[in-house]
Amino acid sequence: MRTLRRIITTGVTMGIATTVALTTSLAGAGAATAAVRPLPDKSYGLSSYYGPRCMPIRSASTYHLGQDMSAKKGTPIKSVAPGTVIKAGSTPGFGQVVVVRSNANGGKVFAVYGHVIDGDKYVKAGKYVKRGQRIADVGSSGTSTAPHLHLEIWKGAYKGSGTTTDPLPWMKNHGASLTAGAAWANKRVVPSSCTYYTTTRVNLRSGPGTNYRVVREVRVNRVMTAKPGASSGVWRKVTRDGTTGWMHADYVSPGLTSLGTRYVEVNGLRLRSKPSTSGTALDTLNKGKAVKKIWPTSNGWVKVYVNGKQGFVAAKYLRY
Ligand SMILES: [Zn+2]
Repeated sequence: MRTLRRIITTGVTMGIATTVALTTSLAGAGAATAAVRPLPDKSYGLSSYYGPRCMPIRSASTYHLGQDMSAKKGTPIKSVAPGTVIKAGSTPGFGQVVVVRSNANGGKVFAVYGHVIDGDKYVKAGKYVKRGQRIADVGSSGTSTAPHLHLEIWKGAYKGSGTTTDPLPWMKNHGASLTAGAAWANKRVVPSSCTYYTTTRVNLRSGPGTNYRVVREVRVNRVMTAKPGASSGVWRKVTRDGTTGWMHADYVSPGLTSLGTRYVEVNGLRLRSKPSTSGTALDTLNKGKAVKKIWPTSNGWVKVYVNGKQGFVAAKYLRY
């Protein structure tokens, strides 16, 4: 192992200048002070935690392998430890990513920085980076709803035989608590059940693969439940109407899918609880109101989503 000793100054932000000797390795006595926070203090919030969760967006994971740090687009990202860049550029899911390999306690540790703006703007694969060196900027590339840094810590290897670990205790153990530097933090709660909807007509299968038999077919926008973390690769274990099976993550969404926007043509159109004039009036819609069609039209009725409610309106009063 290459050991490059040098003198650095820390504690400046606290108004104290402490001179300590560190090595490029995370091993040994230096371990307690060997990492730095990847984002400037108070520039981020802890939004989504490591572990089982509900899919926040279609195709997203239900077992979160990293820690999400919500921050403004363009916030500079620093390498938490010195090491060698093994990946800088685009990758499925993250959009743009930087992966840095470091040494720790005789083993290898990989820090993964996901959803960045441009993975190879500052660094290239094979390049050595220093602790605290700018490696990318916060973005929202790939499967993401808003700008944030998705930080993963892998031990042993990146993917394959490697294993992930919760970045919060790992960073804290290396002297750079992410909690201490955060401007805010969401509550860390794992819900007991998740609610999802189908994004199209899709097969529910007996196992996590297209080689498993079809248990039933589920139409678009049907509600399903699932346990946080119940997945196998890109497959999600879901329950529809009491039947449990597996569905590809691309067809599972936490929200309803719009089948097109329609506009109300008359004033005083009732949104009904069922496809009949005997259905309870849930809302009254006026001319020009945009509604999301969420169900195929049948018997002259359309199921729509409007003002946060689902209900039925007569198709003849809607236009494209
Ligand atoms: Zn994430």
